[in-house]
Amino acid sequence: MCPFADTQRKPQQMLPDQDDALQLQRTILATVPDALIVIDEQGTILLFSETAARMFGYADDEAIGQNVRILMPNPDRERHDDYMRHYMETGEAHIIGVGRVTNARRRDGSTFPIELAIGEAVTEHGRLFTGFIRDLTEAQRAERRLNDLQTELSHISRVSAMGSLASALAHELNQPLTAITSYAEGARSLLGDDGTPAADNIEMVREALAEASVQALRAGQIVRRLREFISRGESDKRVERLRRLVTEASALALTGTGTNSLDFNLRLDPRADLVLVDRIQIQQVLLNLIRNAVEAMQRSGRQILDIRSRRAERDMVEVIVADSGPGLAAEIAAVLFQPFNTSKEKGMGLGLSISRTIVEAHGGRIWAEPSEFGGTAFHFTLPLAEEPGDV
Ligand code: ADP
Repeated sequence: MCPFADTQRKPQQMLPDQDDALQLQRTILATVPDALIVIDEQGTILLFSETAARMFGYADDEAIGQNVRILMPNPDRERHDDYMRHYMETGEAHIIGVGRVTNARRRDGSTFPIELAIGEAVTEHGRLFTGFIRDLTEAQRAERRLNDLQTELSHISRVSAMGSLASALAHELNQPLTAITSYAEGARSLLGDDGTPAADNIEMVREALAEASVQALRAGQIVRRLREFISRGESDKRVERLRRLVTEASALALTGTGTNSLDFNLRLDPRADLVLVDRIQIQQVLLNLIRNAVEAMQRSGRQILDIRSRRAERDMVEVIVADSGPGLAAEIAAVLFQPFNTSKEKGMGLGLSISRTIVEAHGGRIWAEPSEFGGTAFHFTLPLAEEPGDV
């Protein structure tokens, strides 16, 4: 045999045939930490990487050939065909080329937060869409832990600040209130038993009443200072997309809540999307409302979380977070937004009062009504932004 025969064959062997190429592709794909899914124009899954199989719980041959909808929770599950059709007809993309944080659905129906990036390729067989998916469960769990810790810390500092404020307040209010009482008492005795003061006492009665009203105004100022203190705080208002605030906050709020049977509907009015808000503060409000809703539904047979928005008067948007829980307890309903009212064993009763402070600092309103699903619906309004600005 020619001694060079082997070396001559080698370059040829290194060129993989089609099967080898596929195998190579698979091996490479298996090393990518993100899941890769390729779909065609109809949304049919053509390729489902090993990471995708692990992430979603479908074997690749189960997933391939199915519509990509199966990997989405509602509302995207029902609407994906419409999204695709809309894109094919108009070329208007909401997601292609921009990554976003959203929720995905495993085979067992549980949802988990993901970061999704979609690309598009035009081939001789039509358009193909590639989706790279990163599971954010771990990242969000860590973030949530941090967030819980921060929330707890800010609760504690607020509580101790409120505690010391309350005792200072009691002390300060005591003075004008005592003064008001003694001026009122003095005026009463100056009036005499039959209510007709001696002529030379009238001037003193007038003075006592004037002093009492000065002290009452002082008490009012002290209370106003308290309100200012509570609503103070850094706020960084920018033009933001409501859809982004809501999807991120709900992904975060629903992480790790074990809500497999939750029916989550999101219906946001695209014509009322740009808002002028402090993102972190408004996400705090949404997080509070969503967690309260999920907690309220823990023992409910049907768990519906419905978030929607609509234009309201005076250039505002109204956001509604509705649930199918048991509704508000009667004793809570009357004092809902006041601090330290809670029906939960470990509740602080501060979430809603802080939410109200935040919403009002944005020029909005917050209130609760019975929801159409038999539970509670929290409504709040936010200012719409006129200019798209730097979003
Ligand atoms: P916390 O959650 O610490 O109790 P909040 O101020 O957020 O504090 O809520 C106050 C109370 O309002 C809760 O303890 C609960 O009784 C009631 N509540 C809030 N949201 C809901 C809801 N979606 N359904 C029923 N009750 C609710």
